[in-house]
Order: sequence, then structure tokens, then C-alpha cells
Amino acid sequence: MNFGRRPGHASLPAPTVSAPPNDPFAERIATELQALGIAPGYGEQRQLALQPEASELVTARVLKDGRELKLAPATAHAWQALTTAAAAENITLLLISGFRSVAYQRSILDRKLAEGQTLEQILQVNAAPGFSEHHTGRAVDIGTPGCPPLTEAFEATLAFAWLARRAADFGFRLSFPRGNPHGVIYEPWHWRHHGRAGAL
Ligand SMILES: [Zn+2]
Repeated sequence: MNFGRRPGHASLPAPTVSAPPNDPFAERIATELQALGIAPGYGEQRQLALQPEASELVTARVLKDGRELKLAPATAHAWQALTTAAAAENITLLLISGFRSVAYQRSILDRKLAEGQTLEQILQVNAAPGFSEHHTGRAVDIGTPGCPPLTEAFEATLAFAWLARRAADFGFRLSFPRGNPHGVIYEPWHWRHHGRAGAL
């Protein structure tokens, strides 16, 4: 996975990113960043790569309110295998969030800005539009019964202990461990499917 350039010296000036020619997605995201007042060097500074939107999605879970959580087909398949293996050991893994579009990510930032949060605060918790792994349909936010969703408390659950032991066997890796170089808070619930040779 490409996390972009690793900083050799903290004092190096942040390189700016301009959209490469003939890359409509990068151009679109550059426009989004500008509209939000986010510096064009955001991705480079945070070592976050652009995350193109999934072109193909399947429904992985239907919530009680009818909302469908979608994943890329290979990730949905791996997620099914992961949850089945966990269930065999009496561990319940719940899909809390899957695919999110760039437009949806933008709406999250717009709402938080309207609520008075600063960009700095928001970007510790939410990636800028275009940089969320959820755009790819290959990232899952995982919950388990009895644990408030999307909280660090997930780290103390049996589900997390199981994931730490077994998730890699199904091609899933924790994206934002403690002290990650992306300026993103610790997210024990957020795992990305990277696949592997001969993956399920
Ligand atoms: Zn997530």
C-alpha cells in the first residue's frame, strides 16, 4: 500500500501536490480540498494516498432502518469468511461502516464545520474527501455487541483480540494503530482489506 513519501527530516517543507494531468479523480479532489480550505499538500503531509471510489459494490449488511452497507466484492467475500471464522469461536463481528463516497465524506466535514469544529479537529478523526479508505469499498469499521461503536473501548473486547490474532489470515490489517504517522487518532475498529496471494 502506498502511504506516500516518508519524511526523512521533520523540518523539510511540505511538498505540494498538484493534480497530475489526465487524472480526473485527483483534479476533483484538489477542487474539494480547496473548497474546504484544506492545504493542497494535505495528502503528502499526512502520508495519506488518494483513495479512488470503488467501481463495483455489493451489499454486505442491511441495517434495521433499511440502509445498505456496501463493500467491494472481494472484500465482501473476505468479510464473510472473517465473520464466519470468528463466529465459530463465539466471536460476533458487526459491520458498522463500509463504502463511503467522496460526496458523503464531504458532507461529514461540512456538517462538523457548521457545528463549529475546526478543520484541525475534524481531520484527526475524518480523512479529507478523497483520502478515506472507505471510498475504496475495502475498509470496514467493525463493532461487537456490548461495545459502543467506533470507540477506543473496542480495543478491550474479545472481538479485537480475535482480530489481532486472525484478521491478517483473511487479508485485513489495522490501518491506524496508536502513534500512526497519518495524524489520525487510534482506530482499533477500522481495518482494511489488502488481500493476499491465494486470498479467500
Ligand atoms: Zn473507518
